[in-house]
Amino acid sequence: MTTSAKQYVNDVFEIVKKRNPGETEFHQAVKEIFDSLVPIFEQDPVYIEHNILERMVEPERIISFRVPWVDDEGKVRVNRGFRVQFNSAIGPYKGGLRFHPSVNASIIKFLGFEQIFKNSLTGQPIGGGKGGSDFDPKGKSDNEIMRFCQSFMSELSKHIGPDTDVPAGDIGVGAREIGYLFGQYKKMRGGYEAGVLTGKGLDFGGSLTRTEATGYGTVYFVNEMLKDQNDSFEGKTVVVSGSGNVSIYAIEKATELGAKVVACSDSNGYIYDKNGINLETVKRLKEVERKRIKEYVNEHPEAEFKTEDGGIWSIPCDIALPCATQNELNEEAAKTLVSNGVKAVGEGANMPSTLDAIDVFLDNGVLFGPAKAANAGGVAVSALEMAQNSARLAWTFEEVDEKLQNIMANIYKNSVDNAEKYGHPGNLVVGANIAGFRKVADVMIAQGVI
Ligand code: GLU
Repeated sequence: MTTSAKQYVNDVFEIVKKRNPGETEFHQAVKEIFDSLVPIFEQDPVYIEHNILERMVEPERIISFRVPWVDDEGKVRVNRGFRVQFNSAIGPYKGGLRFHPSVNASIIKFLGFEQIFKNSLTGQPIGGGKGGSDFDPKGKSDNEIMRFCQSFMSELSKHIGPDTDVPAGDIGVGAREIGYLFGQYKKMRGGYEAGVLTGKGLDFGGSLTRTEATGYGTVYFVNEMLKDQNDSFEGKTVVVSGSGNVSIYAIEKATELGAKVVACSDSNGYIYDKNGINLETVKRLKEVERKRIKEYVNEHPEAEFKTEDGGIWSIPCDIALPCATQNELNEEAAKTLVSNGVKAVGEGANMPSTLDAIDVFLDNGVLFGPAKAANAGGVAVSALEMAQNSARLAWTFEEVDEKLQNIMANIYKNSVDNAEKYGHPGNLVVGANIAGFRKVADVMIAQGVI
């Protein structure tokens, strides 16, 4: 007796819940992907015959380790480090490291699982992985950050390498942390393996455009969605949540394309500047002084700082770019955006919209760019950084930016085509998930049961 596609997906989802009890974020990421894969299983039962789904949701390897370090008072502190090496069918594991107090196995697994599909969509030869720690970088001195990174890498260095697993940044891990991590890796290995990490400084193997890539890529993706409707960013009002690396460069590119970005946020609250955000102030506060976003109003008294939870989505806008963190945009916020006339939503963060919020956007005809497609620009340029490191050369900003634009346009086209082919025209959640899945699944079949 053959199992129906729906039955198969439901059965594997039950296994996931049983094997990974209480891991709600992981369940959510799996559910979103599983639901959108039903049409491909209906058309191509070969994936059911090979039990691809149950193999894909089980990470190839999970490493969890102790990270002891000494703070500035001389006190010994302990954090937990993770690396999930999820899938290496199409290339070395690739994905960022997140340092944030909320990090646990569920968060790292949801991120690692999404990374498989996102990385596949980029068209680059990179598998899926993710890592991090429950270490809180907020309020730590430079020396504390360095000692933590050194301890973290002392263990992680045993498990990574330019051809096996290539970490990068994510929340709480930027250029400074990548520098300390790279220094410690080099010391442990006794050799210069530039391609072991991406997001490096420009003088030791970093790629031009990597810093900008995730934010720019999100805007390029939304621009593709708009172009298809004969529309553009010109004259649009945009709200961008967050004020980290992704948000800053999304604001920069949206502004360059003629939009007015009126709000951004951090975990304390959001600023609303009806004249348009002054990006130089945000960059200095966040990238140089490492201060809170509320300081913005000291320099721009016409702007307002507000603290209500989720309140940033109550600001009327044409385009919303959630670029902060997972589940920052719920059903209620989505309904508010829709009633305020939002036209397009592009996810710069990983899984920023809840499943209910996504349904609200899709049901109301909002152009919706899901994270795996819309924020893939960062990891795509990471793969270009790996390519430059292997060839021992460096491309110009313009060369990398042009490649990034082509990659985002291809991801868009691929997602649109697959949505159409599998009976859900315009639904880029279905299109992106199927496109990302199909390549990895076909390679897993080609490589046998391993
Ligand atoms: N952390 C980023 C992401 O979520 C980038 C990963 C990378 O460059 O490897 O895709």
